[in-house]
Amino acid sequence: MWSFANDPEFQPELDWIRDFVDSRVAPLDHLLGSQWNIHDPRFKQLVRPLQAEVKARGLWACHLGPELGGKGYGQLKLALMNEQIGRSRFGPIVFGCQAPDTGNSEILAHYGTPEQKKRWLEPLLANEIVSCFTITEPQGGADPLQFRMTAVQDGDHWVLNGEKWFASNARFANFYIVMAVTDPDAASPYARASMFIVPADTPGIAIVRNYGFHGEPEDVHGHVRWSNVRVPAENMLGGRGEAFTVAQVRLSGGRMHHAMRTLAEATKCFEQLCERMVSRETKGKRLADLQMVQEKIADSWVQLRQFRLLVLETAWLADQSKDWKAVRKNVSAVKSIMPKVLHDIAERALHLHGALGVTTQVPFTDALINSYHVGLADGPTEVHKMVVAREVLKDYRAIDTMFPDYMLWKEEERALALYGDDLRAVAA
Ligand SMILES: Cc1cc2nc3c(=O)[nH]c(=O)nc-3n(C[C@H](O)[C@H](O)[C@H](O)COP(=O)(O)OP(=O)(O)OC[C@H]3O[C@@H](n4cnc5c(N)ncnc54)[C@H](O)[C@@H]3O)c2cc1C
Repeated sequence: MWSFANDPEFQPELDWIRDFVDSRVAPLDHLLGSQWNIHDPRFKQLVRPLQAEVKARGLWACHLGPELGGKGYGQLKLALMNEQIGRSRFGPIVFGCQAPDTGNSEILAHYGTPEQKKRWLEPLLANEIVSCFTITEPQGGADPLQFRMTAVQDGDHWVLNGEKWFASNARFANFYIVMAVTDPDAASPYARASMFIVPADTPGIAIVRNYGFHGEPEDVHGHVRWSNVRVPAENMLGGRGEAFTVAQVRLSGGRMHHAMRTLAEATKCFEQLCERMVSRETKGKRLADLQMVQEKIADSWVQLRQFRLLVLETAWLADQSKDWKAVRKNVSAVKSIMPKVLHDIAERALHLHGALGVTTQVPFTDALINSYHVGLADGPTEVHKMVVAREVLKDYRAIDTMFPDYMLWKEEERALALYGDDLRAVAA
């Protein structure tokens, strides 16, 4: 049955999440450092009790399938949940669904041995540890064929050498999932790299520097040097040369959840913008009564609704097909429009708040920078737009005539061939 209404049985859960996130979780954003710093004693004191409440409510790690102890909610419900969870930067970790641990757990569930699952997957799902997913290298991230880090087989071990960067949360991670070139001469460039799971305390791994971006409380994106790092052969995830296939397991669901959290951040900016516009006056009128302000409000609302519908439709399609490849075009479309929606709404909120808008008292500069972050992480916007165009064009074939069939004179000829006798009969 086609419907835009939320499932009435699920609505109370969404209401609970909204209230819980706004009243109990969001205050942490102003008190604690990185959400992944589970080693901070304040994390134990403040975050663990909230996680326990989420577990008691049955809303912990809902992205997991039932085989891993999750609810198997499906993407549509997850999208609606993330729309609320994303109202706080601590939301995902309190609900057990923070990246990159979510994607890494999917990889481990799919490719890990029973021992690897016991050692890494179980504590990861319980948020007793956090992890790092690292493929980007200093010389190039958008083009994975530029990656140079190598893994060379030595008996029953692999030896890893090279550099990774923007390895988010490397400094807090218990283990890394890392991509390295094992088969440089493979015919297909996409069959040259393999994926490994590596404990963070393995000798030879050094964090050279941590980078941060405006709005983040701590520098957490590691430049990591790998020097003769030895890992047992069984730590390869998936087959040799299958790194790109393994990486795909994690990306699509994550992109969708990011999209709804980005929508949440943009929605918060929009709510603050609207409150300000009905509260402040200039030249005897509310700002809300000025037409150019109204245009910005209308454009923002429409952008938010369009984006939300696209994400929800994509989530619904993913639930129908249960195959991310089948909805690749839609996922890339969501990923490509997400930065612009956040950017435009944050920019309008900032500008319409006047001087207050550029200060650190309001979240608009953070949201603006974050719009660039979401346009880069998991691949830049341009690359996703190329995917959309490529997928769209698969449905079209080139014509072998000079003039296209849709030219008016051709349309008229065909219409007359079909209805000419009838017209002549009427005329007679
Ligand atoms: C906050 C943050 C966290 C991140 N976390 C991680 C992480 O945990 N693990 C990880 O492995 N990586 C991570 N990344 C890295 C991210 O995946 C890369 O930044 C991204 O893939 C782009 O690579 P690059 O930075 O090397 O840019 P480049 O490859 O140098 O590209 C620069 C720009 O060139 C343009 N461009 C590139 N390719 C094309 C193209 N084909 N067509 C048109 N234009 C193009 C785009 O405008 C692009 O932004 C993170 C990035 C950020 C910002």
